[in-house]
Parts: sequence; structure tokens; C-alpha cells
Amino acid sequence: MLAKEAAEGFLDKAVIGGLDSFLTRWEGELKPVLGNYPSYSSRTPEERKDWAKRAIDKINAAPVPAANGATSATPAKPSTPSRKTAGKLAAPIKLSDPVTVLRYVTDKTVPKLKRLGVERVEDLIYLFPHRHSDYSKIRTVSELKFGEEQTVVVNVWEATETQLGSKRSTQAVMGDDTGNVRVTWFNQPWVARTLKVNDRIVLSGKATAFRGAFVFENPEYEVLAGQEDLLHTGRLVPVYPLVEGLYQRSLRGYVKQALDGALTHVGEYLPDSTRHRTGLSGIRNAISGMHFPSGKEDLESSRRRLAFDELFMLQMAVMSRKQAWQVEETGVALKVDREMLFAFQRSLPFNLTDAQARVLNEVLGDIQSTKPMSRLLQGDVGSGKTVVAFMALLMAVANGYQGALVAPTAILAEQHFLSIRRMLSGKPTVALSDNVIAVTYEGLPRPLVIGLLLGSLSQKVKREIQQQASSGEIDLVIGTHAVLQDSVALPRLAIAVVDEQHRFGVMQRAALREKGTRPHLLAMSATPIPRSLQLTLYGELDVSAIDEMPPGRQRIRTRWVEPDRRQSAYNFIRAQVELGRQAFVVCPFIEGSEAVQTRAAVEEYERLSKQVFRELKLGLLHGKMPLREKAAAMEQFVQGKTNILVSTPVVEVGIDVPNATVMLIDGADRFGLAQLHQFRGRVGRGKFESYCLLLADEPGEEARKRLKLVEHLSDGFELAEEDLKLRGPGDYLGTRQSGLPSLRVAKLSDQDIIAMARAEARHILESDPDLARPEHAALAQRLKAYEAGLTDEMS
Ligand code: ADP
Ligand code: MG
Repeated sequence: MLAKEAAEGFLDKAVIGGLDSFLTRWEGELKPVLGNYPSYSSRTPEERKDWAKRAIDKINAAPVPAANGATSATPAKPSTPSRKTAGKLAAPIKLSDPVTVLRYVTDKTVPKLKRLGVERVEDLIYLFPHRHSDYSKIRTVSELKFGEEQTVVVNVWEATETQLGSKRSTQAVMGDDTGNVRVTWFNQPWVARTLKVNDRIVLSGKATAFRGAFVFENPEYEVLAGQEDLLHTGRLVPVYPLVEGLYQRSLRGYVKQALDGALTHVGEYLPDSTRHRTGLSGIRNAISGMHFPSGKEDLESSRRRLAFDELFMLQMAVMSRKQAWQVEETGVALKVDREMLFAFQRSLPFNLTDAQARVLNEVLGDIQSTKPMSRLLQGDVGSGKTVVAFMALLMAVANGYQGALVAPTAILAEQHFLSIRRMLSGKPTVALSDNVIAVTYEGLPRPLVIGLLLGSLSQKVKREIQQQASSGEIDLVIGTHAVLQDSVALPRLAIAVVDEQHRFGVMQRAALREKGTRPHLLAMSATPIPRSLQLTLYGELDVSAIDEMPPGRQRIRTRWVEPDRRQSAYNFIRAQVELGRQAFVVCPFIEGSEAVQTRAAVEEYERLSKQVFRELKLGLLHGKMPLREKAAAMEQFVQGKTNILVSTPVVEVGIDVPNATVMLIDGADRFGLAQLHQFRGRVGRGKFESYCLLLADEPGEEARKRLKLVEHLSDGFELAEEDLKLRGPGDYLGTRQSGLPSLRVAKLSDQDIIAMARAEARHILESDPDLARPEHAALAQRLKAYEAGLTDEMS
């Protein structure tokens, strides 16, 4: 230990919890050799060095004590094998090395690690435990307490393989000078073979009692062979996420090897000034403390540093964009044509709700300024966001500019195209092609031309639409990601609307802003983001909310149907169909490729149409269908020609069928709350009472809680807040849906860290907007990698 201290510069880091605890534990051995010694921790490194040097000399000069026997009263000497392992350094490895460079990682281990997202050494370093077991309380046998997590250091008196019930197990008796404990490892006969009589081992776990003696069942254990750090016992022990066939013990070992071999290659990228102002730990200390903390304080300070990093990088990405783009202030100030808006409103079959009118005014206020609008429009499913967005887009056209409406899926984009056609149905319309229409609109000098641009169109059609868009012939482009591509020029783009914006990333919003005249941006979302998260996720955006539903909306009755009542759920659908209504059936989400998902949906469709609903007409909708078939399936459902639409989860967004009154979600336990709420919003859009049925075959405890919440709460925001209490932000949004890399360490309750991250990001960007200074070089590099990751994650 002293040699290790020397190697590390006498920082009192060699022993978990400090050298003093070690010295105290070995007092019986050491005092006869060293005499009395004062506390190590309270000395300066210089004093420690002096004392250690003398101590080492004395120890080397002392006679080797007799071998430790079963009756030894004091803690035994550090056993001899330690000399062999001491000083053995992990082979140098690189962060980018595959995990196979590590000892004990076999071909069989590789796919298991891959399921945890771990392929390279670096991934292991960043695979943080989700909690730690506190085994830091080290006690003698006589000090053990029932039911507590604690640690004893004991000698093995006896360890045998036995038959317990049908399983081979290990039973052992161990003890120190204060008493004995019994230890059982169920189903682990091999433990008996690894333990030898007189081995000193560390046991950590909960102690129970059997016939008056203390018993450990399946404790964590570690044979004290030498001077390696304890990994599984006697400390805060990391507990990692696991997959089938992978064990905590092995994973801890891999992580430890990765840290020992490659942590030194992780570079600090926070500027000194930021480290100084925030008082955060260095990156290497934080990483190692997140895995194998020396104590609770170390764990907390490590977690704070890593949480800060996640939030800080997000803020840097978000703010550097906002800054780059608002500084220039080259947006166009649009004139608002009230006359035209009133005329449009009069042509609608409904009046705007107060909330819609208020939000519309906020938007109109923004677009009259040269400072480009950057607004998030929130509104629950069915609250009527599209109309508001369309009225804004109309203003771009009225001013002689272009507008764009971008949606995350082709189905949703098509739906927008169709519903805008419907809104304009009173006006004379000419179809210029399948995807382009011209509408004669009073107040406009020439017909309003609207184009639908999807990635799935043929090259020829796409090029045509692109050409018409870049020549300015098309006034409004509606489409998917295809619109974001560089090849799509929108030279006179003045307003861009992004629907279901949580499906897009920071980088994609940025891509839109690169187009046209530095357009005004309106981002819409039906996934309610709790206020506590808004600032973090959308720090760059102003927020408006449509917090009121159009009148006459039905409250949707939601029921979680027990598995054995599946048939009655089908009967309910049948009864609704007999009343003339329609139903959606959403197939369970299946992990794997879209092909797998599609096959499952096709099978379910076959089963339902051939066995369950033989007398009814069913439609099928899945992502792999050609566009034409999708459109046909939707159209048939919209027109009431099919009674039930069976679909993969693609139906989540956008279809508006007032006659549909039942939404049956199969495998409801596999969806997040936000998604369930979205599905539910597909019904209750007409004048009929509507229902959402949740089917889940084997919901776990957490899923049950979630299903109960959906049953009882109908307000999206309320649901979101509740769900956040249940789970973290990453879970709520889902990694792929949130538009940001998952927050693995940061928690919502880290309000102070969120504030700190914002303040630091602002500070740095204000003083060095392009991160051009040498002290920001590492940060600039890191930010670039981070932004590339954002784009990947979104594509
Ligand atoms: P979302 O906010 O979910 O995108 P939509 O914009 O698709 O909602 O609107 C949902 C439905 O409500 C559409 O059929 C739309 O025509 C209708 N709608 C919108 N505003 C109103 C209103 N003020 N009164 C009645 N119906 C409305
Ligand atoms: Mg919508």
C-alpha cells in the first residue's frame, strides 16, 4: 500500500477510504513493527513521504510472521501471493481498441456487450452503473447487524459443495477473531472450488440469521490475494445494467481493466476557467469515481461533473446555433395582411379557440420583425396547431415569399397536404400533377402553388419539384426530411414550420435555417414537454402553448384490459362497428428491423381478418408498403370502406378520422406514455364517444404504473409530469424521439447543474463565439464530435 502511495504521490488515494482505515485495521500487525503512528490523512504529502520511507524500511527489516492459522486472533498478515501480483500493470490499451483486447472477454462475451452498446474500450469507460451498493461499512463478525448491507473480512474455515434441494450449491463457514458466520451460495457450486481453507476473503451483502448465527446468502465476495483494489466488496460497489448471460462480477472486471489501461487517454476539454468557476472535478477523476468511488462524496462530485458535461454540451450546441443565427438578424420582416386572415378564418367551418387566436398573435408578432422567429408551439394532440401554422405560412406567400412545412413521416406530410387542400376546398383548385396543386386565392396576385415533396418520390418527380421550388414557382412546400436536403433550394423561404418537432434534432432545425432568407422558424410539438425540461431541451426557442381543446371534443375513455379479457376487447370493437363506427388496432412494437415489425403486423392482420373479425373489412398499414398502397389504405379508412385499420406504430401521427371511436393498442406496455397518449389522440375527433383500449400480456411493475396513469389522466402535460416522476427524462422522451442524446447521468432534479451549464455555455460563447482561442481548442473539438453524434442519432 505504501509503495502504491509512493507511486501516486502520497495523495492518500491508494486505499479505498484512505490509508488510515487500513492502518487501523492492521494495527495488531503494524504497531509492533512501526510503533505508534499519527493519522496519515492529516499530514502533508511531504510528511507522508518521510514517514512512509521509514515505515517501509522497518517493515522490510522485520521478521516474517508465522503462517496464519485457523486460530489466529488478529487480522492475518497480507498473504504472500500479494507480492507476485503487486505492481503488475495493465497493458497499455487505446480508447478505440475493441473490447477483445481485455482479459476474459471472449467471442461469446462480445455480442452481449454489444447489446449494452459496448464495442470499444471507450464505451466501457462510459458505461456508467445505474447505482452503487454500499458495502463500505466494514465490521467484525460481532459487530454485524441484521438486515444491513455490510462487509466483513474473514478467514475461510470450511467450504464445501453440497446438494441443496435440486441444486448444487456452496456452503461455507468463515470467521474472524470475534465469531463465525455461515455462508451459502445457492446454485454456485464452483465457489467452493475457488475457496481454500485459510483464504482471507471479503464478504459483502445483507446478513440474516439462522438458529442464532449470522448467515450470508449469495454475498459478493473477493479473495484477498494481494493489493489490488477491491471491486466487488468493502466499498461502494457499482451495479451495471446487464443483459442475459452477463454478470456483474465480469462486467466490473472489464470496466476496471478499461479504466486501468486507457483512462489516461481521456483528455480534459473543459477550459481551466470553467473548472475553476464551477469547482467541478477533473474528467478522469470523475469517470473513475463514477465507477469505483472512494466514498459517497467522491461519487456525488463525480456524478455532478458528468451530469454537467451532458447538459453543458447540449447547451453549447443549442446556444452556438442560436447565436450564430440571431446575431446576423437578416430575417425578413413580413407585413401581416389582416384582411386576408379574416377571410381565411371566415372560410373555415369553425372558429379559432381563444388559445389558437392568442398563439397566432404571438406568431404574427414575431414574423413582423427582422429578428428571425424561433418559437416552439406546444399543443396536445388535436388542439389545432395546423391551422395556426397554415395562417402564418399564408403570410409568407402574401408577402411574395415561400413557406415550408416539414413533418417526420411521409404519412404525416401527406396528411397535411390533404388537410390543407381541404381547408382550401372552397377555392378553385387545379392539380398540376400528383404532388402539386394550384389554388386561386383572392388577395394573391397569382394562384397559390403547393407542392408535396417526399423522399420516396421518383428521382424525376423530385427533381421537378425541386426545380419548381428553387425557381419560386412553388409557394408552399410540404414534405419530409427530403425538404431539408441541400439539393432543395428555397431561395425565398421566409417561414419554416416543423411539425412533431421532437422528432427532429437541433441540427435539422439548423438545416432549415440555412435555407432562404434566414426564415422564421415555428416548431410544433404535441409531445408535452414539462416546463422543467423545456429550458434544457429547447433553450433556443420561445414557447407558446395551445392549452385549450376545440369545443365538443370527447373525453376518451381509456381502459387497461386484463390479458384474459382480450376477447371482450374484440367484442367491444365489433359492437362499435355495428353502430357504424371504426377502430384502429396498433400492433405491438417489436424490437428489430422494420422488416420484422412488418412481418408481425401482416401476421396480426391475417389473424384478425381470418379468425377474429371474419365478417368485417380490415385494412393494413405499415411502413414498408409502397406510398400508393398506403394512401389507398388510408383513403379507404377515411371513407369508411374499411371498419378496422390494423397498423404498425406508424399510425401514431396524423390521421384524422372523426368516425373512428376505438383505439386498441396491443402490447401497450412496450410504449412510452407520450406515445400512448399520441395514439389515443387519434380517436375522439368527432361527435361520438370514444375509447382507448390498452392490451398488455405481461406488464412489469413499472408498465402497470404507466398503464394506470394513462387510464386516469387525460391531460398530456399532467401525464408528462407524472411520467417524469416515474422515470427519467431520457426514458420519457425516448432516446430517438427526444432530439438529443440520452441524458445518462443528469437528472431533472439537477436544477443547479442545469443553471450552471447554461451560465458557462453563455459565458464561453459570449467571449469566444467561434471557440477560436487556444484554451477552447479541446472544447471545440469535442463539440464538433458531439454535434456529429446528434446528426447521426437523428438520421
Ligand atoms: P394537432 O394540434 O394535433 O396537429 P390538428 O391541427 O390536426 O391538431 O387539428 C385537429 C382537428 O381539429 C382538425 O380536424 C382540425 O380541422 C380541427 N380543428 C382545429 N381547430 C379547431 C377549432 N377551433 N374548432 C374545431 N375544430 C378545430
Ligand atoms: Mg398535428
